[in-house]
Amino acid sequence: MRKPIIAGNWKMNLLQDDAKALFNGIKEFADKYTAVQLPSIVIAPTFTSLSVVENVKCDCGCAGTKIAIAAQNCHWETSGAYTGEVSVEMLKDIGCEYIIIGHSERRQYFSETDEMINKKAKSILAKGLIPIICCGETLEQREAGITDSHIAGQIKKALEGISAEDIKKSVIAYEPIWAIGTGKTCDADEANRVIAMIRNVVREVSNSEAADAIRILYGGSVKPSTIEEQMSKSDIDGALVGGASLKADSFNEIIANTMKVAV
Ligand code: PEP
Repeated sequence: MRKPIIAGNWKMNLLQDDAKALFNGIKEFADKYTAVQLPSIVIAPTFTSLSVVENVKCDCGCAGTKIAIAAQNCHWETSGAYTGEVSVEMLKDIGCEYIIIGHSERRQYFSETDEMINKKAKSILAKGLIPIICCGETLEQREAGITDSHIAGQIKKALEGISAEDIKKSVIAYEPIWAIGTGKTCDADEANRVIAMIRNVVREVSNSEAADAIRILYGGSVKPSTIEEQMSKSDIDGALVGGASLKADSFNEIIANTMKVAV
């Protein structure tokens, strides 16, 4: 049984006070439940708000174990002359447990390659953190009928040289690029089909134990009204949420609706 994950990617949004207020809104909701009743909740603020939300978490003392903090990117080297970059060790030091890598916005605007994503995944796992490895196709690739081969290629390269034990702990997020921030959600059966295909790729490059254990999320215009159907599918283990994670009400409703069907 894979524990569902609901992860919020705040992208480049929110100043520190807003981040604190939003985090408190999620924490208030999470405090009503035990960790067993909730899905794994992961919040990915900007680098500048990581310590803000981490401090709120620590002050409270009770919700601390219920909400994990993620960074939205990292560098694979531990330290050195990499101006503007942040290492996994630094993110661990500030309290991060997860790191999102290979988001389509980073691939598109910052030329992140599959090779870089593989190095980042290895570095994250070596430090005991969990990578959330994003993959997904453009509309052109979908229309050309190459969705599966494109995504299989991204996953094979991302997982190259990673042990089955480490793959088991990892998270993959299938995010069709045409569904990100557009309000167009991928049909739940189709998202489930692609995610089952990704699970088979993991089985092929690693083993069945890793394929059965790895949590694979769907991302792309997830809303409170879409999550129940998505979470009712066999292979969808949770959601990576962008826009709807920026308001406590909608993010909490996504968590609550997940709990109705999948925890
Ligand atoms: C994302 O950026 O990961 C995402 C899924 O965004 P949205 O939910 O806004 O489509």
